[in-house]
Amino acid sequence: MVSSIAIIDPRSGLAWMFDATPDFAKQYNIITKEHGARLAGIFLTHAHIGHYTGLMHLGREVMGAKNIAVYAMPRMKMFLEKNGPWKQLVSLKNIHITPIKDKKEILLARDLIVEPFLVPHRDEFSETVGYNIMGPNESLIYIPDIDKWDRWEHDIRFWVESNSYALLDGTFYYDGEVPNRNMSEIPHPFIIESMNYFEDLLDRNQKKIFFIHLNHTNPAIQKNSAASKNIIKNGFNTARKGMKFFF
Ligand SMILES: [Zn+2]
Ligand SMILES: [Zn+2]
Repeated sequence: MVSSIAIIDPRSGLAWMFDATPDFAKQYNIITKEHGARLAGIFLTHAHIGHYTGLMHLGREVMGAKNIAVYAMPRMKMFLEKNGPWKQLVSLKNIHITPIKDKKEILLARDLIVEPFLVPHRDEFSETVGYNIMGPNESLIYIPDIDKWDRWEHDIRFWVESNSYALLDGTFYYDGEVPNRNMSEIPHPFIIESMNYFEDLLDRNQKKIFFIHLNHTNPAIQKNSAASKNIIKNGFNTARKGMKFFF
């Protein structure tokens, strides 16, 4: 399945998804059927196919959702409002787009806060953000796409140190992984690179890192691959379907 996470607040029974992937229907079922929660909103990171096209399931022909809150940055909001078929979701009120801003927090409950932050990425149609999710005890950063860590204005290592969990772009494991493709056109921090970049973090900080958003070419998709074992050996983790993080 394409990477996505959700927060579920067991007190209210409400859930918020991060990204609406092509696997939206299955992921929606996990939230509603397996966890008995009600979808209250969707936070979008950017306008690349794997991250927003799942919104189509909310439309008239499918779920016929009513006013689901979709949190989007200004260009992302405009993209959805101006382009079909997405604009129909807006005009038929299947979704209600709530504008969000860089580093401006959104209160989901008194002690449950979400804050978007800009990251450098191929921004053809929209900005790209990651999210900081802050619960009563723990916090998490979610960055499914970023070009390279050193192109960011912030030091990701500091962010790992100051949060409880870090779900980070692990699209590709190494350079050359995608045959016949110049990988500098689709920059992501290779997992190999990231492990070097995070080499000097303390063990307890390294183990907060979970690589997410793995491309189908990434050998770490296979749990028992050499790549997966190497990630563990170096003190990091790969996110797997159904993992839970407690806040
Ligand atoms: Zn992307
Ligand atoms: Zn992506």
